[in-house]
Amino acid sequence: MLEGKIALVTGASRGIGRAVALELARQGANVAVNYAGSEAKANEVVETIRSLGREAFAVQADVARAEDVERMVKTVLDQFGRLDILVNNAGITRDNLLMRMKEEEWDAVINTNLKGVFLCTKAVTRPMMKQRYGRIINVASVVGVIGNPGQANYVAAKAGVIGLTKTAARELASRNITVNAIAPGFITTDMTEALNAELKEEMLKQIPLARFGEPDDVARVAAFLASDAAGYMTGQTLHVDGGMVMP
Ligand code: NAD
Repeated sequence: MLEGKIALVTGASRGIGRAVALELARQGANVAVNYAGSEAKANEVVETIRSLGREAFAVQADVARAEDVERMVKTVLDQFGRLDILVNNAGITRDNLLMRMKEEEWDAVINTNLKGVFLCTKAVTRPMMKQRYGRIINVASVVGVIGNPGQANYVAAKAGVIGLTKTAARELASRNITVNAIAPGFITTDMTEALNAELKEEMLKQIPLARFGEPDDVARVAAFLASDAAGYMTGQTLHVDGGMVMP
């Protein structure tokens, strides 16, 4: 589906980002694997992609820093010559009740989860416009639609990502660039591992398909949005949540 395409996936050293990077490669794309922390884990993803017969390299960048993001996109263009697919996946949580939430917790989550999406989208806009081709896929969350106690910062960021997706879709459509979002529900990754068993049991009861999602459940939908099959879709948010939220 993605033969010869060039993709950049942010936060791709583990979890959903790792699964997306591998799925895009399985579908034929060459992939730049962005990471912020563990170079070793990013290199493991790179090696796995190479073993699939695709090209890949790891690129360090904090998506919340404009100079990092510009360097990252330049590196991808220098190495691969073009950039067809951007998956804005990097994200963090700093949960706290609103009345206890520290300004640093608010800023950290907004900077990574919302400003990061803005910076990466902005950085790829020019090359994608020149190519008259682009697929931008933003990883939002169902909580950005329904809210969640203890996550005001995260929910605000994810709701912002959904709004940014719609605006970017409208601005870029005339250049054949689509911008869509995925809103995962509860996916088993490091991010959700720390939640207590009681809360997990409660959440499971709210999922009609009666299981938590796996990173591959999200990755397959990202690959679909990156493909020609989704060429007439833009500005949409696809829920990948086992039916948890039906807007
Ligand atoms: P994760 O913690 O396993 O992975 C997040 C990745 O983002 C890590 O590789 C991390 O290093 C990277 N990252 C964090 N800050 C970064 C920065 N400033 N610059 C570059 N990379 C950075 O979590 P995950 O569950 O795989 O989350 C991936 C995305 O999916 C996030 O945007 C998250 O909000 C979203 N999401 C996850 C769930 C879930 O249930 N796991 C649900 C809805 C949405």
